Amino acid sequence: APALVTLGEAMAVVAATTPGPFAHGAPLRLGWAGAEATVAVGVSRLGHTAAWTGRVGDDAAGAMILAGLRAEGVDVTGARTDPDAPTGLTLRERRTADRLRVSYYRTGLAGSRLAPADLDEDRISGARVLHVTGITPALSATARAAAEHAVAVARAAGVTVSLDVNHRERLWSRAEAAEVLGRLLPYTDLVFAGPEEAALFVPDGEPEEMARALTRLGPAEAVLKLGAGGALAVTGGACHVRPAVPVSAVDPVGAGDAFVSGYLAALLDGSPVPERLRLAALCGAFAVSVPGDWEGIPHRTELGLLAAQDITR
Ligand code: ATP
Repeated sequence: APALVTLGEAMAVVAATTPGPFAHGAPLRLGWAGAEATVAVGVSRLGHTAAWTGRVGDDAAGAMILAGLRAEGVDVTGARTDPDAPTGLTLRERRTADRLRVSYYRTGLAGSRLAPADLDEDRISGARVLHVTGITPALSATARAAAEHAVAVARAAGVTVSLDVNHRERLWSRAEAAEVLGRLLPYTDLVFAGPEEAALFVPDGEPEEMARALTRLGPAEAVLKLGAGGALAVTGGACHVRPAVPVSAVDPVGAGDAFVSGYLAALLDGSPVPERLRLAALCGAFAVSVPGDWEGIPHRTELGLLAAQDITR
């Protein structure tokens, strides 16, 4: 059985490769993205078995996504091809050298039609970690029910439940996210959040205090992601701080998911919290220094490339 099971939405990405407004014939790069799928790719590259569940359309984009995940060794036998809705799409315009403008085409499309019946309960029960994000419950009522059901099944089976808050302001309000995700926290063992995301549930303050407050809402382990400022984890009353690995950042998108994949892979290795943070920070650094969301995530044998950069080693 796969060690990690995750579920969510994956979409095609069409991204401008040069700055400027979208124009007829402009150079583009075709790819795919999805927060949970990125985590599955990372865990797989780092040597653990990972399965992704979700829906894609019966179209070229859906086939590209499933083929891409298969090529990364991610188990997609539980993924569905939905005959009634196309695969979602993200358009990324590089409006200026520094400013991306992103359009999402996802409402009512295949990824958002994920439903509880799509889940394989035995697989979830047989996993070591279930990973969900705050994106799935924001997509639709059925996707929300699927995420909640997956968490309930994992919890009942004693499977570690990991939640990345991943607040998406275009999908729902902070109040709605706080309510729905707040109800998941008591069933979560490990939570990842940025400071603004943590503030959905706990008073705004120092990252360490916010992480400590999160652990009082259910999760035994709370990890705050602080971008180029690194990360910290609170568990068992102790706070572990990790600076970022200094690199030239060319694409911040996907750093958080790469970070989570490193953290979960180290957890699956049986490593203690400081080592989980170390591997997570390395993966985040690899991801930000390569264009694309998941493309830059390292294979285990490549970690040494940036480990020398890691001054805290
Ligand atoms: P996103 O939503 O953009 O994928 P996020 O907000 O969830 O990301 P971040 O806190 O931006 O997550 O990044 C996660 C981790 O990745 C950080 O804790 C850090 O270790 C690493 N990281 C992010 N940005 C940089 C950077 N500029 N240089 C080095 N490491 C970085």
